Amino acid sequence: MSEKKRVLIVDDDPSIREFVSAVLSMDYETMEADDGMAAWQTVRTWKPDLVITDLMMPRMHGYELCSRLKGPEGPAGVKVLVVSAKPFETDKAHAYAAGADGYITKPFSVDELRAKSSEMLTPGAASAAAAHPPQAKGSAIHSSELPAPAPAPAQAGALPVYVRFWGTRGSCPIAGAQNAVYGGNTACVEVRVGGTLIIIDCGSGLRELGGALLRECAGKPIEGHIFVGHTHWDHIQGFPFFVPFYSPKNTFNVYSVHGANGSLRKIFNESMAKDYFPVPLANLGSRLSFVELEGPVDLGVARITFHHLNHPGPCIGFRIEAQGRTIVYVSDHEDFCKLSGDSESARRQDAAVTEFSRGSDLLIREAQYTEEEYKTRKGWGHSTFDDAVKSAAELKAPRLALFHHDPDHNDAALDAQVDYCRAKLKELGAATECFGARDGQRIDL
Ligand SMILES: [Zn+2]
Ligand SMILES: [Zn+2]
Repeated sequence: MSEKKRVLIVDDDPSIREFVSAVLSMDYETMEADDGMAAWQTVRTWKPDLVITDLMMPRMHGYELCSRLKGPEGPAGVKVLVVSAKPFETDKAHAYAAGADGYITKPFSVDELRAKSSEMLTPGAASAAAAHPPQAKGSAIHSSELPAPAPAPAQAGALPVYVRFWGTRGSCPIAGAQNAVYGGNTACVEVRVGGTLIIIDCGSGLRELGGALLRECAGKPIEGHIFVGHTHWDHIQGFPFFVPFYSPKNTFNVYSVHGANGSLRKIFNESMAKDYFPVPLANLGSRLSFVELEGPVDLGVARITFHHLNHPGPCIGFRIEAQGRTIVYVSDHEDFCKLSGDSESARRQDAAVTEFSRGSDLLIREAQYTEEEYKTRKGWGHSTFDDAVKSAAELKAPRLALFHHDPDHNDAALDAQVDYCRAKLKELGAATECFGARDGQRIDL
């Protein structure tokens, strides 16, 4: 007898699900799912007419859910409304390209939600969605298998852990004597746990790490786990210049989330297309696997988890727990409240980033701008020195590495900012040891 249309509400924040469900359940039959993967499983048996989905979720993000829903295996005629705390135009464009029919930004009003839902579920209202026609249908999805965990060490805690910065610059590599102290290579951080090699981001610093590994291993096979926060140039431009990729003796796994418009492998493959680089990805000699993250990665000696950050396009931070020590890497992130205003949902998103970062021995935190610079760079997806300090103080982090230095900040400017941050931390009563990360710097934990 019920002719009610079906709405599936997908969000990892239970209060958002409850709220949307409460608003829409009078007019529609509603169902909830707490991430993209759960939603995709639900869709197979419960055919929704409308899926209202968040973007930043564990296991499967909203862009991927969107392309699956609009792909050959998705339910015919389903509409997708994205509801996200991310206000960036890039995310809207990615969402529409993945097949979304609408996009609203959190926080949103009851009226806005009801109006958008009804517009999408009313026959003939397709013209509203046509203002943003989906441009690309879902691409083929394949998630690689997570590698089998390596055997745990006999004596946990016995292995030494260190971090070495190979690239600490954001946005663009730089050179010059005025930058000799902090260095000019873009984001690349090595974490070594005993003999296990973990690399975070593939900025131009990766090239020098490659050279150091070849010297260290002297012809012996190299195996490594490479975690990529996001695929903007400054985080991948060192990739083709990592010489260990060219030897069949070596093995690497590259981990990140599925791209907004296709697989992780596709992004790297396209970045090495012949217009940009002479050697195609397929010709790299080493064994190279691309692993799309759906949850924690257990390497036996270390466990790596991720959390979505507020930056244009999919972007994640990492938490590495190894041998009783914890390293947190939060780079390319703009605080939600700072960008979108103080609202309950923005506060919850900020609190989630804080929780993710809690209990670190070393907090590597982006600090690209001064507050003055931020005024004209709001909405670029980056943090300020004050944001990094606030976060470290709130977390009582013992060590804060300021990271992702702006290309316009030379050594003198960075030294002044480190002094500023130390004074601020003192003012806040925090015992945090603060420093500006430098290319080549090693920290034993
Ligand atoms: Zn960056
Ligand atoms: Zn970026």
